[in-house]
Order: sequence, then structure tokens, then C-alpha cells
Amino acid sequence: MTINHNDKIIALRISVDGLVQGVGFRPFIYRLASHYKLHGWVVNQTDGLTLKIEGPAHVMSCFIADLREKAPVISQIEKITVDQDFPEGMQDFFILASQDMTDETSEISPDIAVCDECLADLKLQSHRIDYPFVNCTNCGPRFSIIRDFPYDRVKTTMADFTMCSVCRDEYEDIQNRRFHAQPVACNQCGPVYMLHSGSRVIKKLSLILDEIHRMIASGKIIAVKGTGGFHLMCDALNESAVSRLRKSKKREGKPFAVMFKDVDSLRQYAIVSEEEERALVSWRRPVVILKTLRPLAKGISMGLDTLGAFLPYMPLHHMLFFNAERKALVLTSGNLSEEPIIIDNRDAQKVLSPVTDAVVTYNREIYNRTDDSVVRVIAGKERVQRRSRGYVPAPVKLDFDVDGIFAAGAELSNCFCMGKSNRAYLSQHIGDLKNHETFEFYTETISRFQQLFRIKPRRVAVDMHPDYFSTRHGQKLGLEITQVQHHHAHIASCMAENGLDEPVIGLAFDGTGYGTDGNTWGSEFLVCDFVHFTRHGHFAYMPMPGGDRASEEPWRMGLALLYQAYGKAMTDLNLPLFRLVDDKKISLLAEAIDKKINCPLSSGAGRLFDAVAAISGVCVNAMFHAEAPMKLESVIDPTVSGYYPFKLGFDISFLPAILQICEDMKAGAGAGVIAAKFHNTIAEASHQMVKKVHAGTGIQKVVLSGGTFQNKYLLETLENKLVKDNFAVFTHSRVPCNDGGIALGQLAVAARSKG
Ligand code: ZN
Ligand code: ZN
Ligand code: FE
Repeated sequence: MTINHNDKIIALRISVDGLVQGVGFRPFIYRLASHYKLHGWVVNQTDGLTLKIEGPAHVMSCFIADLREKAPVISQIEKITVDQDFPEGMQDFFILASQDMTDETSEISPDIAVCDECLADLKLQSHRIDYPFVNCTNCGPRFSIIRDFPYDRVKTTMADFTMCSVCRDEYEDIQNRRFHAQPVACNQCGPVYMLHSGSRVIKKLSLILDEIHRMIASGKIIAVKGTGGFHLMCDALNESAVSRLRKSKKREGKPFAVMFKDVDSLRQYAIVSEEEERALVSWRRPVVILKTLRPLAKGISMGLDTLGAFLPYMPLHHMLFFNAERKALVLTSGNLSEEPIIIDNRDAQKVLSPVTDAVVTYNREIYNRTDDSVVRVIAGKERVQRRSRGYVPAPVKLDFDVDGIFAAGAELSNCFCMGKSNRAYLSQHIGDLKNHETFEFYTETISRFQQLFRIKPRRVAVDMHPDYFSTRHGQKLGLEITQVQHHHAHIASCMAENGLDEPVIGLAFDGTGYGTDGNTWGSEFLVCDFVHFTRHGHFAYMPMPGGDRASEEPWRMGLALLYQAYGKAMTDLNLPLFRLVDDKKISLLAEAIDKKINCPLSSGAGRLFDAVAAISGVCVNAMFHAEAPMKLESVIDPTVSGYYPFKLGFDISFLPAILQICEDMKAGAGAGVIAAKFHNTIAEASHQMVKKVHAGTGIQKVVLSGGTFQNKYLLETLENKLVKDNFAVFTHSRVPCNDGGIALGQLAVAARSKG
């Protein structure tokens, strides 16, 4: 008798690191092991998972190859380590209970859009006919329902629901897609929806859907609970419903997101490229900013040429479009003004009932609030602009240690960041910390991140701005503090995202940030690494008459630049600005500039865009943050390639451009021409400044960050110019270029500055 050497029974111990928990990885391994008739066990560790397998030597390599190639879609394997172990003669394969023994953490999955197989189950499975919380190991809520780590049902808000025997059988059946799917549920045992309208309460789903359809068709507004918070919903083609929604939200001009039945329906209203379609249908299901083709109700995009569109991601969303003519619904965050999105049923009843016709809730708690994420495809690449549902809490991996550092973030569109070994955990979009409720959300989320990721901050990084609520909060913690200049943090964030760790030329363009010379910065040409930065240029300082008010009222910046260019003679110009702003205000403003009363200096790129938007009549009065630059971008005539004159020194003066813009206005040039030439001017001037800095330093790598680079036209134009000139250009993709990404930069700077 001969023994085939390859049939020798061996044992391997395998560790898998990465996003492998809460994504069906253990069941997947179980199935794989039973397929190859291997025995052993798998266990979630807080730093990934470990398995031991025993079996014939010749199948081991197939098993490991499948482990990599056939892993669940949402998982991200970073590292597989294989070690020899001793065979113990095990007779089966086991999934061992989670252990919570160390304080090492692994990844927690973001929320995942409902998968196609589950949608099919709505028709096929008798206990899940039309069950609106259908989910499986490949889909469903995750981060939004997780209270603690490791990911197991008892540590989620599903803990309140006891599985029925049918669900339990599926949950325990290795061959089932719901094997160990933590939120598994059905019509018998899971959460249910409820519709409240006045004193009426409807509990039966089919009746709820009937009522929703009826109300939407008659122009009503409905609050409906989503994955990470409530939405306010109405027909996207009903002008009066949309304008009523706008009034009830107390949000005058910010565009509303629109959910479409499918990509085909969306294509009737917007241009969708291949990359944009990929983003739309991805399991993250973000809102994607697209170019409008045909308008929906006017009140949705408020004069912008873009549309924020997304596709259904909860079973109920799909049901809203089943058997209905309807193709598009406004689904905007359920909050008033700048408050955080509402997640609690009772808050929704209290706050949203008065401004809606019905409130649709369900009886499972949302633990972690997550807004819809927003992305835009620029230069063929997906760029996250608001990072929340579907993206959080996936960390950014760094090449250096950031352990125990808490980065407090900026003020407007705040996100904070926490370091654990070499992983940077950016929080979900928090919002404007000046709002009291938002600040409470901020501190609450900070403590939840500490708990969830087992982080005990030892050091804190804050913005240099002494009055940011985030700075003050950081300072109160009594920890060692690193102050990071705002624009240095922007560039460091982009460096960290791109794995750069060397001196670069950094262009940080935004609206505002505290500068080291006491002025407001925002168009900075820096030479920096993670530790040091020097300022090598900027746009010329502009007076900001009225201080912070100038950033809300574009006409102030318009007048400030006109006054610099023309003096008192500016009022002779025949500009819409002078017809829309009363004379008294104009003379007061001129006086304020002369006497330097409440006229701080700013080099903010956003302020320059404001000024040009006001002078060209594109946006004289703004209704929401960054409206003027957005409007200016949206009117660009892309066939125009010329640019305006400017003066390049240590700073760049755009007064020659302002004079020429006024000449163009006089000659009757359209806003599209002026906007295009102005954008081209910024790109050209920036390119020339980069060349100048390069000549002095020899640095070839250029990093672009700051909220101004949410501007698709500007980013594409500038990047093209730089790349053609052989610069290596680095931009953001997974981390926002706006202040929502700044905490990552603060974290990196603090980590590298000491220790
Ligand atoms: Zn599924
Ligand atoms: Zn059940
Ligand atoms: Fe900024």
C-alpha cells in the first residue's frame, strides 16, 4: 500500500486582517471549509479573524486562493498570514463565539444597500413577502445599529427582537445566505413600520404604502425613517410640494437630493457617465452630483445646473417605486435648518409632525446617526464631499502610528478623527458646530467612537482658530495639544490619503481659515511636509467689509474689490450689483474700507469667487453656504478658453481681472463667458505660481486640497495644466477636500510632530 504524500493531513492557522467582520466572512469561511471537507474553527478576533483548518495538504492552497478570490463583496482583506499548526484530529468545522478579550479593534462595516437576492425574496419567501427589513450577510444596516464591538446581534439595536424559529433556522443553517446575518428578521419577528398622520396610526405595510402613494400624489410631505436618520419626502415633479418643503425646512436655497426609481429613470433628467453610474449603483448608494439634463421641480436645484441623485437603498425605498408611475422623489435630510438629522421616533413626531402631513417610523432604534453621503465624479474619479452612510466607519490606513490621538476637526461641516495604531477613524459628517444640537452630536459621537474602537486619547490636535468650538472642546480635555494651521491640515489630509510623506507643494483653496499672521487665509501655496510648512504665495489680501458677514453676503466682497479697483468711481459702473444693493449700504461699506472698520483681511479663494459672482450678477445675495461659487461654476460656458490678466508676485493680484470683467460686462458679455474666463484665470495663475515655487524648491509633487476643489471645472482645468507640465498631482477621493477632511490632516500632523 502506498501513501500519497499530498494526502497527508496537515493543519494551518490563518489570520485574516481587514474589513472582515459584519460582512458575512465567518459563514463564508464555514461554507468554504465544508466545500473542501476541511475541519477546524474560525473566530472573530478584535483585530480581524483567525481560523484553524485541518485536512489533506493538496486542497489547502485551493482553500487559501478561494479565501482571497471569493470573499464577500463588501469585505476588504488587507493581509492573510498562514502558519503551520499541529493537526488535532478535529471532526467538524465550528464558528466559535466572539471573544472580547483584548482591546485591539478591527473594522466595523458601514451600512450596506439591500441586495438583489433579498429584493427577490420579497416575492419568493413566504415569511418575507413584502417584508421591508429583509437583509442578509451581504446587505443591510451595520454601523447605524451597532452599539458596541465586536459585531454581534446582542450589541446592536436588533437585540430587542427575538428571532422566530424560521429565522433562527436560517441563521443557524450553514448553507443559508442568512447564516449568522446579525439583523436577520421576517414578518413574524422583526421590526415594523408605522404611519402617523394626525391622530391616525396605520400599522399594516400595504395600507401604509397606499397612504404614502396617495399623499405623495396629492402633493403632501412625508417624514420617513431611513437607515441613518429621517428623510423628508415629496414628489420631485410637484412644484408646490417642493416649495412647501423648502419653507418647512427653513432652508432657503440648498439643493435637495432626489431619489430615482432606477438609472434609466434618472437618465431622463441628468447626464450619467460610466463612473457616475458605478457610484450610483454601488452598495454604498451615495448621493451623486450630476449635470442636469431636464429640470425637475424648480425648487430642487435652485438655479444650479447640477442634481444630487441617488437610488433606493432600503427595501421600503424600492417599494415606493413598485407599481407606481412615479420616478423621482425628493428625499432630503429630516432636520430643520442646520440641526442634525433626526433619528429618534419621538423627536420626529415632535419636530417633523408640524411641518409634514405624515410621519413614517419603524420600531428599531438608529444608534449611530448617518446622513446620506455625497460624492461627485471629477476627472473620472469619485470624490467624497460628505462622508457618512456607506463610508463610515471605514478607516484610512497610514504608514505611521497615530495611536491615541484625537483630532477635533474644523467648525463648519465638522468631522473629527481618532487614531488607533496606524488607522485613522474619521467620524461621519457631524455638521456646523455653532449649532447647539450639532455640538451635542459631536461630543456624543466622540465618546461613542472611543467606546467602539477602544481608543483612549492621550493627545489632541486642534485648529489654530481659538474660537472654533472644536478647538475649545479639544483644549478642555486637559491633554497634550498640537495646534495645526488650517491649510496645513488640508494639505496634510490629502498627503495622508495619498500615502505621501515628503515635502510637497500644497495648494489649499477654501473660504476661510485662521492664518499665522492674524489674517484669514484661504488660497495658500505652501511647501510642507507633515511637520513644517512655509507659505510661498497666496492670492492678494482683500478687505472683508463686515467680517464674517462678508462670507454670507457676496455683494460685500464684490463691492470691496470694485472699490479697490475703481475707488469711489465704482458707482459709475453699470452693474446689477448697484441696482440690487441700496446706496446707503454702499457708501457705508466704502467708508468702512477706508477707515478699516470691521474689515479683516482675507486671502480666501471662496471670497474672490463670491466677489466675481456678485460683480457679474450671477449671485449678489446668497441663501446658503458657498452658493455664489457654486452658481458661478454652474453658468460656465465650457467652450471659452481665454483668461483675464493678473499680477504675480509673492501674492497674486486679481485686480487686473476685475477691471477686465467690468469691461466685459460693459461690452455685454454673458455670465457664461465671464465665469469661464475667471475660472481659467484662477487655474492659470495657480499654475504659474506652482512653477515659480517649483523653480525655487525643485519639488515636483503638487497636492490640491480645500473646499474650493469641490469645483469640478477648476479641479479638472488646473490638474490638466499641471499634469501637462509634468507635475505629479495628488487630490482627494475617499476623504473630503472640504473641512470635513481636515481632521485627518490634523491627526497626521500631530502624530509626526512629536514622539
Ligand atoms: Zn441581502
Ligand atoms: Zn423571523
Ligand atoms: Fe477649510
